[in-house]
Amino acid sequence: MIEIPARRGKAARLAAGQSVRVVNTYGSQVVDTWAFVRDDMREFMSMEHTRIFISRLIPKIGDPLVTNHRRPILTLTADTSGGIHDTLVAACDRWRYELLGCVGYHDNCTDNLAAGLAELGLAPPETPAPLNLFMNIPVLDGNRIDALPPISTPGSHVTLRAELDCVVAFSACPQDMVPVNGANMTPTAAHFEILG
Ligand SMILES: [Zn+2]
Repeated sequence: MIEIPARRGKAARLAAGQSVRVVNTYGSQVVDTWAFVRDDMREFMSMEHTRIFISRLIPKIGDPLVTNHRRPILTLTADTSGGIHDTLVAACDRWRYELLGCVGYHDNCTDNLAAGLAELGLAPPETPAPLNLFMNIPVLDGNRIDALPPISTPGSHVTLRAELDCVVAFSACPQDMVPVNGANMTPTAAHFEILG
């Protein structure tokens, strides 16, 4: 198991056919997740393209996640977390924390994506909207959204199968100013392992 340290990012290469199991080790940690085509990172997993491809806001087991060229790049093949994830909310960034009143630098998922990829000698072409695993953003009365603690439990996990050779990146979201990482607003580590 590879650690995604609390408040940090981590990336890994996947060959088509391999899977990655993302474990919510302590149960209430949001894990921002990205996937880029290995030989041209300008093609990447896209939430806006995925939502219309699957005709739903939250992928369920068996659903493909498609790129900005509408090709399946990952498939959600298992999920023990209760099935609540988010595809609507942008990765957090320094400006998100400034708007929340943070003075000075705050760790953020956008920088974590870049740092995780940098460990592999790679750089993101931009910060795509992530698949926010375990993030609980309910849509209320068909329009408003809320930001609530995850419903996932310690050790629950999601498995994603690579449909293309790709690079996956994860950020253990450092959000500690709203309760998306649990009511006590304390980001923790998460883990992943590559299968196959
Ligand atoms: Zn974040």
